[in-house]
Amino acid sequence: MIATSAPTSASVPTELYIGGQWLPASDGSVMTVVDPSTGDEIASVASASEDDAVAAVDAASAALPAWAATPPRERGEVLRRAFDLMTQRADDLARLIVLENGKTLTDARGEIAYAAEFFRWFSEEAVRINGTVQTAPSGANRILVVHQPIGVSVLVTPWNFPAAMATRKIGPALAAGCTVVLKPASETPLTALALAGLLCEAGVPDGVVNVLPSRRSGAVVGRMLTDRRVRKLSFTGSTEVGRTLLAAAAPAVISCSMELGGNAPFLVFEDADLDAAVEGAMIAKMRNGGEACTAANRFYVHASVAAEFGERLVTAMSRLRMGSGLADGVTLGPLVNAEARDKVASLVDAAVAEGARVLVGGAVPAGAGFFYPATVLSDVAPGSAILAQEIFGPVAPLVTFTEEAEAVALANDSEYGLVSYVYTRDLARALRVGEALESGMVGVNRGIVSDPAAPFGGVKQSGLGREGGHDGILEYTESKYLAVTW
Ligand code: NAP
Ligand code: MG
Repeated sequence: MIATSAPTSASVPTELYIGGQWLPASDGSVMTVVDPSTGDEIASVASASEDDAVAAVDAASAALPAWAATPPRERGEVLRRAFDLMTQRADDLARLIVLENGKTLTDARGEIAYAAEFFRWFSEEAVRINGTVQTAPSGANRILVVHQPIGVSVLVTPWNFPAAMATRKIGPALAAGCTVVLKPASETPLTALALAGLLCEAGVPDGVVNVLPSRRSGAVVGRMLTDRRVRKLSFTGSTEVGRTLLAAAAPAVISCSMELGGNAPFLVFEDADLDAAVEGAMIAKMRNGGEACTAANRFYVHASVAAEFGERLVTAMSRLRMGSGLADGVTLGPLVNAEARDKVASLVDAAVAEGARVLVGGAVPAGAGFFYPATVLSDVAPGSAILAQEIFGPVAPLVTFTEEAEAVALANDSEYGLVSYVYTRDLARALRVGEALESGMVGVNRGIVSDPAAPFGGVKQSGLGREGGHDGILEYTESKYLAVTW
């Protein structure tokens, strides 16, 4: 147990945040939060009921007219203060993420910087929600288009980036003039509650941001989606839950943005700079210990460089030190819970049973905590589950190819289409392959694509809509067209 900075109700809020007040669940329910490096309980947090969900929508709905009418500059300045506060408190917030999520302190600091940047970026975008004016082709009238806030927005976030997935939604929603109810993942509610307190300090009026941790996620989110006052659902999480929520949003025809699962291919061509490719692979695979929707899930390496790339990757993976994310020198933390660890282990075991070779790692260590070691597999059989499913852990399966068209076909053979990575020194090939890959984002000679200034999102069953960039704010607006004769 990490005693020094374990949160207590005195330092980190553990109640629901509704209408600017901290409240217990209406029926007194609580849920526990666990430190994945030990399995020990670190906090007990209120677990919202359906009645609490209605109260949160009441609060968001009551706050909407005034917030939507607040000058964009003022909305932007509130977000800018939130960025400043988050930056000042980066270290405390990072430690909180490590405690409830397990990632290393380095990863958690990186997340806080990334998360805060969404507040800064959207503080700047708040004043740039430009409409258009044009003359109708007939010449009879003008066509005016304005972008109005869509309304009360329900935000549902996963545990793997507890701060960034929340700010990536709250930032644009508030900038656009919307009010929100955030349902954070049950594994990591503390970071979301800390953010609620920080937003209040930054000057967000009561009711504009409400936060509802709940173990009864289906019932609580489902209740909000039957409420006619709710006009937007922005969800980040698994494709499976995304499908359920799209169906739940259908009766009230609620606008949906969906950031779902990924199964990123990582292509290494024969002309790649192998040092750069291994460095990029370590980032694309190992950021967050592999628990990222953008994580490289399948490595396709040209046969002529496969042995060399494999050896160098094994060397880099062997250097990682596994342990509690807060301990000095640790570069690989635990997975978030026992289920996640067991899923990774069973995918590896099945691949090995089908003929894959373990080059490093490959076995659950003894002792407490939900650890799985950095693992590289070669000779992975085509059709293995480990190539088709999100691994969400520190495992790199290697597959070889010989032709460019074959590599592209293998990469595109997935229901997912979030991000792909390509390593080659040939610019024409990079662009040709980049255009042919069926994914919303492509990293070209780069192992990371996430940037608050860029449109993040997937094609196929990886999602609908984009977060970040200018696109991100438009997800929280409706275009209104006025046909005008003057
Ligand atoms: P998850 O199981 O889909 O859960 C995501 C969120 O949905 C959590 O808040 C969860 O609450 C809630 N939820 C679960 N079942 C629900 C239901 N029936 N109705 C309403 N809400 C429900 O995903 P996860 O395991 O937390 O996160 C990992 C997944 O997120 C991966 O698939 C990853 O690829 C994806 N992800 C995607 C992106 C992206 O931008 N595309 C980014 C990060 C992660 P509880 O915690 O209470 O169950
Ligand atoms: Mg936990």
